[in-house]
Amino acid sequence: MTDYGLKIWADDNFIIEEAQVKLNYLSKPSLLTITKEIRSSGLRGPLILRFPHLIYKQISTLYSTFERSIKEVSYKGSFHAVFPLKVNQYPELVDAVVKHGQAYQYGLEAGSKAELILAMAKTPTYAPITVNGFKDTEMIHLGFIAAQMGHNITLTIEGLAELKSIIEVSKKCSLKVPSIGIRLRLHSSGSGVWAKSGGTDAKFGLSATELLEAIHLLKTNKLLKYFHMVHFHIGSQMEDITPLKRALREAGNIYAELKKMGAKDLHAINIGGGLAIEYAQHNDDRLRTYTLEEFSNDVVFLLGEIMDKKKVAHPDIFTESGRFIVASHAVLITPVLELFSQDHQEKSLHIKENNPPLISELIDLNKTLNAKNAIEYLHDALDHMESLFTLFDLGYIDLQDRSNAEVLVHVIIKKALVLANNHQTIELQKLQASLQERYLINASIFQSLPDYWGLNQNFPTMPLDKLDQAAVRPASLWDITCDSDGEIGFSSKSPLYLHDINLEEEDYFLGFFNVGAYQETLGMSHNLFAHPSECSIEITKDGYEIKNINESSSLLKIISNLGYDENQILIQLKNSLARSKFITEEEKSDTLQKLELYLYQNSYLRTTN
Ligand SMILES: *Cc1c(COP(=O)(O)O)cnc(C)c1O
Repeated sequence: MTDYGLKIWADDNFIIEEAQVKLNYLSKPSLLTITKEIRSSGLRGPLILRFPHLIYKQISTLYSTFERSIKEVSYKGSFHAVFPLKVNQYPELVDAVVKHGQAYQYGLEAGSKAELILAMAKTPTYAPITVNGFKDTEMIHLGFIAAQMGHNITLTIEGLAELKSIIEVSKKCSLKVPSIGIRLRLHSSGSGVWAKSGGTDAKFGLSATELLEAIHLLKTNKLLKYFHMVHFHIGSQMEDITPLKRALREAGNIYAELKKMGAKDLHAINIGGGLAIEYAQHNDDRLRTYTLEEFSNDVVFLLGEIMDKKKVAHPDIFTESGRFIVASHAVLITPVLELFSQDHQEKSLHIKENNPPLISELIDLNKTLNAKNAIEYLHDALDHMESLFTLFDLGYIDLQDRSNAEVLVHVIIKKALVLANNHQTIELQKLQASLQERYLINASIFQSLPDYWGLNQNFPTMPLDKLDQAAVRPASLWDITCDSDGEIGFSSKSPLYLHDINLEEEDYFLGFFNVGAYQETLGMSHNLFAHPSECSIEITKDGYEIKNINESSSLLKIISNLGYDENQILIQLKNSLARSKFITEEEKSDTLQKLELYLYQNSYLRTTN
């Protein structure tokens, strides 16, 4: 039975038990049970489930791993971390990050004014705030205000103009000066699709020449004592450790040189984010080639080595990994609404008492098909189908015979493909692709999995139950947008098989895992589908608690968020209905009630699923 690659991507967070996916924590509740309970209140559409214990797990793993590396090589600096808000700014998540980070003095990183305001409101004063990204004078002034409030805040300058703004603000106001950080423009660049953050043509950071100019400016304006940190970030989802090692050597040497040039209060090196998450479901697709231990050992060892060589004190280490901290905490659950079955099920066979000989042979092939004869029988079946079609064209068999031939051949192909799974040929792959089942999911890929749309990023996908039954249908997933890009196609290289189900008799839910990083705020309201309903699940020893169910926006809210006047729209609709003829007054008021009900429901489909 397939486990949908759980061992590869799930990091022991989920297990399969009693044919269902369960949380591998305390009472081990099943995702299906939780989903059904939430839906029992009438909530429909896709659902984001957040599991705060998984955020805590990542934060504590990050700290304990670095602490271990530091101890092992007697590194003299300390370890600190901040959560980059751009990865996910939703309140439930940020509150969980702040709450679970308390024990470690885990801080927040902001990349824009709105994020800075969030960081100032949410970070306890003992935890650090770092500020990256382009800043105007106003944003820099906000940094001074934060410092005055008692925050341990570092403004990382991305260019000399920002430093000039800091100097200007420091002269104009008497507020406390925040710590100053400088982003380094390294010549070593990152790897993977997100590698644009490093390299000499990177969007951010100061070159060596600009660094010298910056030190000069800081000195002449008596601000050098506030220069506390150097920073680099080589890109997200770093799949290989080599670029980081190169960047560390470069940044470490720059740090040591700056210390020697008189930056005496410089004490920290911020290595940015980039720790990768495993999204692969198949062994051949594995992305991450290193462990967290290797990562932390390399950082601590390399920095220690460089500083010892140059006789400079070991710097404190800051990281800003975000994806690593929160990707695993969220699961997107989508109901399947429909199977666009192109092929036919055995139950639609209507075998006659007397069948044409070729049909009888197909019946036999179907009965005696096994792993050994699968390919041979498959070829026979395809051959028979051609002959039967010819017989139909010539008028020798009737429509029922033709339908039986279609159904039988489809069934045989499906079974043979499963049986011959171990020796895939191009012919089989082609047949398989032609037999895909389209599963219509009640969700928008643009809204909930934008990185699939934009970067072809796989998100581990599996059904929530039936995990003791063979899943034989090659699946492609269609979302409910009317855009043909809203599809996760079947890939014979990394195939997804789902179950044969009768949705009239039972529900079928798919879980998309590791969706907690980036997807939610990158999501687009294409076709006006809104952010899904969401809630947090606190797992306890005996069960679980569902906290803060936030339903997806209502139709009226979505429309008013675009800038329309919701009252005007409501009045317009009501008036049009009131004016309409050929409808009794009773029907009118009934219809109006329905209309109002619809307007306050969310944007996703509500049919039985
Ligand atoms: C995006 C970003 C991060 C977070 O990167 P992850 O890949 O999510 O760890 C950290 N620091 C900076 C400066 C960033 O721009």
